[in-house]
Amino acid sequence: KEQQLSKQETIALREQHISKSCQLFFRQDPLKIVKAEGQYMYDDKGDAYLDCINNVAHVGHCNPKVVKAGCDQMRVLNTNSRFLHDNIVLCAKRITSTMPEKLKVCFFVNSGSEANDLALRLAQVYTGNTDIVALEHAYHGHLTSLIDVSHYKFNLPGGVGQKEHVHVTSIPDSYRGKYRDTQYAKEEIGKLYADEVKEICRKIREEKGKGVCAFLAESLVSCGGQVIPPKNYFREVYEHVRAAGGVCIADEVQVGFGRIGKHWWAFQQFDVEPDIVTMGKPMGNGHPVACVVTTQEIAESFARTGVEYFNTYGGNPVSCAIANAVFDTIEEENLREHALVVGEYLLDSCHMLAKKHKCIGDTRGVGLFVGIDLVEDRSMRTPDKECAQYVLQRMREEHILISIDGPHCNIIKMKPPMVFTKENVDEVISTLDRVFKEFRHNKELYAINSHRPQKSTDVTSIKDHRPRKSLLEDKIKSI
Ligand code: PMP
Repeated sequence: KEQQLSKQETIALREQHISKSCQLFFRQDPLKIVKAEGQYMYDDKGDAYLDCINNVAHVGHCNPKVVKAGCDQMRVLNTNSRFLHDNIVLCAKRITSTMPEKLKVCFFVNSGSEANDLALRLAQVYTGNTDIVALEHAYHGHLTSLIDVSHYKFNLPGGVGQKEHVHVTSIPDSYRGKYRDTQYAKEEIGKLYADEVKEICRKIREEKGKGVCAFLAESLVSCGGQVIPPKNYFREVYEHVRAAGGVCIADEVQVGFGRIGKHWWAFQQFDVEPDIVTMGKPMGNGHPVACVVTTQEIAESFARTGVEYFNTYGGNPVSCAIANAVFDTIEEENLREHALVVGEYLLDSCHMLAKKHKCIGDTRGVGLFVGIDLVEDRSMRTPDKECAQYVLQRMREEHILISIDGPHCNIIKMKPPMVFTKENVDEVISTLDRVFKEFRHNKELYAINSHRPQKSTDVTSIKDHRPRKSLLEDKIKSI
């Protein structure tokens, strides 16, 4: 059954019983999505929305093979992993077969947050240290331990603030970060950002007399603004962190499972081997299943504590049947190859769009992970949040769902289901083209009208001015 309540009733009940802190897209006029298929979501009126942001619905919303695998297993058995079962071991074999040789041991959990929390715990036990180095504006999960290391959350005005064991290093962003491509070569940029981590490690040793516990980072920076770190960044950082006694954790929760096309995992494009890898979101295509993969050595040190690990739902037969079906689908439908081809087409199309619109400062991406950095001024690279908010709202009105992220909220973020097509790209790009034109037009009109000298007798100028100004402002306020 698609709906039991009218949209108004749903809103009223949600206001009554669901906390306001729970994020709701387009709060002023939220969407009620009642079904989805492939790369499309459908609202209560049956209108389709093209989904450019949901990387969880990796092999397509409600993928029939994945749904069937879950249903079939649910009919037979679902229990915890304290009994032997084929699904969990086959899933572990599958995951580790895509990883570097040394990453052999899996812990199954239920969410990206649980995976990262366990990764930190493993790192603490293995290194005997507690200090964590994480990226500025990073998000690693909603558990207390992860809010503490997620600058994106603890740094908010109402956030918990920076804990003493947490160290924040700059986003390795060569476009708008501290070290830019206007001043330095890519390789140098990678080194400069990595040197920041080296300096943090040195300070921890000097001030606390301790080593580092872990460096935790996404292999491609998503919340930080769809940033692709310079090729040598992780290699150099990993050296510094390991020299300081720490381990390296790659958070692949958003960017893993073949999204970049060329590899299964985004860290693989940088020729590094993390000590711990965490994955989630796409793993269950919407079903809650996640995993931590680590080395025999780290897993052994955890086992030696004698504290057994148990997770009621982690690795249950249904979750693992679903994860195995996701793997099957990626392979059978060549979705990595597809992500490579469609991703390249999307990025090329964004480059073309940038030739037409000065508000695009930078376009970047790998596979189906793409960002468009919006600027007020190309030479200064001033972030244009207002434009980003306008585009977000207008795209929704055009039934295309994108999202905005980055420290300045000016990056259009795209990470669609992997079944996204070239036709979908064309639709997104032509709509963006229209919306950018519209934004510039509105802005120009607003500028003309607000600079025009207004005599008290000049009624038309006042009349003209008001609706145009409010048109722009209302759009922005309604987000
Ligand atoms: N790591 C990253 C990079 C994420 O984006 C998220 C979720 N947005 C998490 C971890 C946490 O995952 P979950 O919401 O499944 O707990």
